Amino acid sequence: AAAQAVATRAVDSVCPYCGVGCQLRYHVADGRIVRVEGRDGPANHGRLCVKGRFGFDYVRHPERLTVPLVRRPGVPKGLDGFDPAAAQRVFREADWDEALALAAGGLAAIRDVHGGRALAGFGSAKGSNEEAYLFQKLVRTGFGSNNVDHCTRLCHASSVAALLEGIGSGAVSNPVADVAETEVIVVIGANPTVNHPVAASFMKQAVRAGKTLILMDPRRTELARHARYVLQFRPDTDVAMLNALLHAIIDEGLVDARFVAERTEDFERLRANVAGCSPEAMAPVCGIPAATLREVARVYAGARAAMIFWGMGVSQHVHGTDNARCLIALALASGQIGRPGTGLHPLRGQNNVQGASDAGLIPMVFPDYQRVDDPAARARFEALWGVPLDPQPGLTVVEIMHAILRGEIRGMYILGENPAMSDPNLHHARAALAALEHLVVQDLFLTETAAFADVVLPASACAEKTGTFTNTDRRVQLGRQAIDPPGQARQDLWIIQQMARRLGLAWDYAGPAAVYAELRRAMPSIAGIAWERLEREHAVTYPCASEADPGRAVLFGERFPTASGRARFVPARLLPAAERPDADYPWVLLTGRQLEHWHTGSMTRRARVLDALEPVPVVTLHPVDLAALGLAAGARVRLTSRRGELVAQARPDPGLRRGEVFMAFCYVEAAVNLLTIDALDPYAKIPEFKYCAVRVDAA
Ligand code: SF4
Repeated sequence: AAAQAVATRAVDSVCPYCGVGCQLRYHVADGRIVRVEGRDGPANHGRLCVKGRFGFDYVRHPERLTVPLVRRPGVPKGLDGFDPAAAQRVFREADWDEALALAAGGLAAIRDVHGGRALAGFGSAKGSNEEAYLFQKLVRTGFGSNNVDHCTRLCHASSVAALLEGIGSGAVSNPVADVAETEVIVVIGANPTVNHPVAASFMKQAVRAGKTLILMDPRRTELARHARYVLQFRPDTDVAMLNALLHAIIDEGLVDARFVAERTEDFERLRANVAGCSPEAMAPVCGIPAATLREVARVYAGARAAMIFWGMGVSQHVHGTDNARCLIALALASGQIGRPGTGLHPLRGQNNVQGASDAGLIPMVFPDYQRVDDPAARARFEALWGVPLDPQPGLTVVEIMHAILRGEIRGMYILGENPAMSDPNLHHARAALAALEHLVVQDLFLTETAAFADVVLPASACAEKTGTFTNTDRRVQLGRQAIDPPGQARQDLWIIQQMARRLGLAWDYAGPAAVYAELRRAMPSIAGIAWERLEREHAVTYPCASEADPGRAVLFGERFPTASGRARFVPARLLPAAERPDADYPWVLLTGRQLEHWHTGSMTRRARVLDALEPVPVVTLHPVDLAALGLAAGARVRLTSRRGELVAQARPDPGLRRGEVFMAFCYVEAAVNLLTIDALDPYAKIPEFKYCAVRVDAA
């Protein structure tokens, strides 16, 4: 007999994974999501990748937290023997009143004895703008310090630092969709096929329409098949290669002299800095022939319009800010910014890392990047929030871990982040988490970080709440609730408010729209984007000054938002990686992500289809290297660094350079961040995830 059609309800929302911000439609039956399809959103035109289409069933995984948990007395903190499926050995169930009293009470006790700077909070780039805003407001007004950060520190902090310094704005200048308007697309240190798949599909479409793609990356990734130029440079030599391109542009008379004269300053500093960086001098350093460097410089600078996209391969270095400074200088020197099809686009990773940063989930700035050490900005927020605020910028993610081990930070509230997997040098990070006197974790699952918690608060997934999210294009979009959180799990906005009340704040927001209304008052950039407008239009791009303003997709046509209105060239030095290969650790380890898995894997490894596609930890290396080790594909290899070791399955990848290995950071059973180094970029404090020395042996 024919199966009976199941009646479904359709809910329009946005994808919970990457920063592309694909609009999607959930089909819901009996309180469960049964199917997801793409909508005709401005960022996806109906397309979805494998994560957006199939990665939704984690929300009903049997390990989902459905009740608050409190650590049993005497049970040591840590991952030794920790099993999310057997949580009752570590935690006991509690009702919300008890759990919230313990969670907030522990933090308040530390604050009252040791002061607000003894506390810190990590918010989430996966939550809504409203959640990010309320969380940073809670830390700043309830804890009384600026020790609030999130995973932007681990992803584009260096890009944002360089962009703010150079052009006065940390967001993208042009949307991904501008690949249709451009002539030349540069992708550097990014693997969009894997990490921004729908954006990659627009890039490939642009190539088919005749655009020139230039790929620059230590790995020859899938996008290379579509590129006219592939610059597979030595990892860690980005600045050498980019300074050589700048040298060639100056040397060959390709500078847009009028743009430089009218719109920029400090060009002579740049010229002096790259004087010794000719392509001929830098070719042996970066491994790219001088003739290729010169040709690429001509193609980029000579194009009618050219765009630069970059990712973590640029930003996650001790010279990440310097890398981004070079990219900014390339665009400025060539006049490739301020028009459609030009500009600078740091591809944002998480669905709301742009919005969470905009909303102030950063230790040195309030919402809209207003500095906490600027007395005028602080006065504005003191008036809006009605309390005195700490004038000292707070600590960043990795700095907080160090401060815990120095005894300076004693308590933390972590919402939706998993530093026990995502921080570099995990033994150090996990030791820090274990040393906390009081840790509150709010999440969907008993994550690796929850193994160190005193109180665990069961939170809501994206599909279980309504809120605004800002994609990589600066586009604010509305995500709508499709299903209810399971059991006693609660919406994050409710939990944050309950915590705030117990920390002495009289908050009473009626819902996400009420929080968003306050956010608009705090952020002039979104003043024209009313909640009702988002309900009607689904997506509006900021800056948007009034409700009649359509929003601006392309920025900097007339001036830059700097004090002088001009952009600034900032020279970049050749700074080596913190740890180079040597006789003991002769390989270079690069880390990143896989198409099917998302970040630390807490969601995608609990999504049936995605986990079936990539079920076990994999390390990739060049097939000749694999053969030289006497191993075949699928063999077990051991990776060892000065900080830790792991065993994973070997997979050949001819796209890697010899002597390099690559691994994703989503596998708890082989956590690659046990190996990575916690050296930081001095400007943006971003760790060097993209380079450290390891040894590779048969396991
Ligand atoms: Fe989701 Fe990104 Fe895939 Fe789009 S490209 S469906 S936003 S993960």
